[in-house]
Amino acid sequence: MSSTDIAQFWCSVVTANHVLDYFSLVTGYGHFSARNPLTNTTFFHNIVDTPGTITSSSNFIEFNVYNGAPVASNSTSISPYSEMWIHQAIYKRYPSINAVVHSHSRAVLPFANTGVPLVPQLHLDGVLGDQVPVFDIAEYYRPNETHDFLVNLPHLGAALADTFSTPENNATKKNSEQEQTVEMVGGQLMRIPYTAPLPAPTIIPSAAASVSGAIAALTDFLTSTPQLRNKNKDKTVLLTGAGISVASGLADYRGTKGTYTLNKTYRPIYFHEFVANHAARKRYWARSFLGWTNLNKSKPNPAHKAVADLGRMGYLSSVITQNVDSFHPQAHPSLRTLELHGYLRSAVCTTCRTEYDRQLFQNDLAALNPAWSDFLNEMLASGALTTENPDERRRLGLKTNPDGDVDVPGVDYATFRYPACPTCLAKPPQDKDGKKHVIEVDVDGAWVAGNSTAGILKPNVIMFGESIPDTTKTAAELAIDEASRVLVLGSSLATYSAWRLVKRAREQGMPIGIVNIGGVRGEEQFFSHLGENSTGKDGLRCAHILEEMLPNLVKELGQKNTTPFASSAMARPFVPAPWA
Ligand SMILES: [Zn+2]
Ligand SMILES: [Zn+2]
Repeated sequence: MSSTDIAQFWCSVVTANHVLDYFSLVTGYGHFSARNPLTNTTFFHNIVDTPGTITSSSNFIEFNVYNGAPVASNSTSISPYSEMWIHQAIYKRYPSINAVVHSHSRAVLPFANTGVPLVPQLHLDGVLGDQVPVFDIAEYYRPNETHDFLVNLPHLGAALADTFSTPENNATKKNSEQEQTVEMVGGQLMRIPYTAPLPAPTIIPSAAASVSGAIAALTDFLTSTPQLRNKNKDKTVLLTGAGISVASGLADYRGTKGTYTLNKTYRPIYFHEFVANHAARKRYWARSFLGWTNLNKSKPNPAHKAVADLGRMGYLSSVITQNVDSFHPQAHPSLRTLELHGYLRSAVCTTCRTEYDRQLFQNDLAALNPAWSDFLNEMLASGALTTENPDERRRLGLKTNPDGDVDVPGVDYATFRYPACPTCLAKPPQDKDGKKHVIEVDVDGAWVAGNSTAGILKPNVIMFGESIPDTTKTAAELAIDEASRVLVLGSSLATYSAWRLVKRAREQGMPIGIVNIGGVRGEEQFFSHLGENSTGKDGLRCAHILEEMLPNLVKELGQKNTTPFASSAMARPFVPAPWA
């Protein structure tokens, strides 16, 4: 191999990383690696989490294909990416594979979770082979290993690599091009093109493409007489997502101005990381400290107010929201809200579950971190924290490093301090075996790493990788079962917890309405029963701006006065929700 060939090899490797970054296919989690064309017995894996910033071979570590050991002795000081073992095992098992990409895509999870096989449908799908094998990591954990879905141990990597070995599976066949193998969380294997954004929606009824047509369809939807067995059920349950809060100045995650789109290095914290790692908590609370003031200042927008009006008019039974911004309970305290993913207005102790007001917690953080507090006041004055746009932030004095951390002049994230739970401090909790925890704090009451992991405060939200409590799940199912229709506002139903609620409603024969800009996961199945002449009564799908459309819907319904049950609903005393 000539030096030109080697230069060409590195050029391809860098380009591959940039392509993956450009299409947001491996943001923060997935990785690309390549076998060393000179030796075949080593491979190169990058050491940065941001493929878009890779420029040369210096961004890579070389590993031995057979045992995963770093080739250069000095590279042991750099901790390699934990899922490097996926790559190592595949190179070891399949000598003909020269490059591996692994990404994390939610789109394939239904196949892994249901066991329904993903099969090729078109000529372009030939790469899938006859059928895509499913790798269920749960079958391979050894006792005492952390069940975190990560293929981060040699034996897990080997088990995953074995899954590819079905004789008919193309992943093991020699191919004239570089072959790709893609690992997904949950173990589904497939190629990257299938993880593209959701397709654009089909508008139903077609008249709902205009705002006035959509209002007419929504009126029909909300006022129709339910055809269900239980005639007492006559109301609609709302299911809302990030799209309803955009007008309050909060970025949604996937829209054109969303967090993932503007800030490519954005990476949410995982629950297991938060509870296990003092440094991760420092980083989380430092960022949260800088973001809280503006979050706390933001208010419900006209869409939330319209929801309050619809509730007063008697159309709604309750609201289920995926949002953690508290706008629903603020806008309509007497219409029940179930906050599926918790709320940011409290911090909660992971040991004793005591909740603390987030604003009071903010004051404690300010007292423990005076240099950060000064910096925060400076940035609030400059306006840098009112925008999510990284370029605009930089212009106003808020600089971030490639990991997305804010550069606070003269201060390190490692210096950030956060308090321990006051309740646990006053009355140290006991283990099941009666052993008392000793929570260690510094002179100012900040949590310090000691022998106990008790008394750790966490935002009272469901983090990535954390399960929703059973009581919340049951309450959400009850809210669905009590209603006669579901109206989804501003959600792509990307999280399974929300999607399954809509599926549950549809399985009971309920009409489903969806108002969302952009595609919604598996939406065809919610509307497949509708004929060409449907009017909105039995289901509707449109894509309008909520804060503009909903207030007009309220006006329209007010003029029509078509609510047979509005007066009785208003006369009924408010009953607090079981979860309130
Ligand atoms: Zn992974
Ligand atoms: Zn506590």
